[in-house]
Amino acid sequence: MELCQIDAERCKGCELCVLVCPKDALAMGDWRNPSGFHPAWLAVPERCNGCALCAQVCPETAITVYRRLRKRARDAALSQG
Ligand code: SF4
Ligand code: SF4
Repeated sequence: MELCQIDAERCKGCELCVLVCPKDALAMGDWRNPSGFHPAWLAVPERCNGCALCAQVCPETAITVYRRLRKRARDAALSQG
């Protein structure tokens, strides 16, 4: 499963995620979303290491990184146990 998922309909095409990705895993699509923006997409998923930098910079909160979410849930469970 891809670690990083981008909600293309929420993306405003600012390109910040593409610029910040240390693995060069993201790219801007050449198609348009329903709002008329070219959305970012995970062009090379095997490069993604789940660092979540892209999600941190996205002003539209359009990016979810699943490994980080799972780790947070595990940490919360451990702290309660
Ligand atoms: S989680 Fe990190 S490596 Fe993966 S696409 Fe986002 S910035 Fe790049
Ligand atoms: S940072 Fe967010 S809004 Fe900007 S291009 Fe990436 S997904 Fe789209």
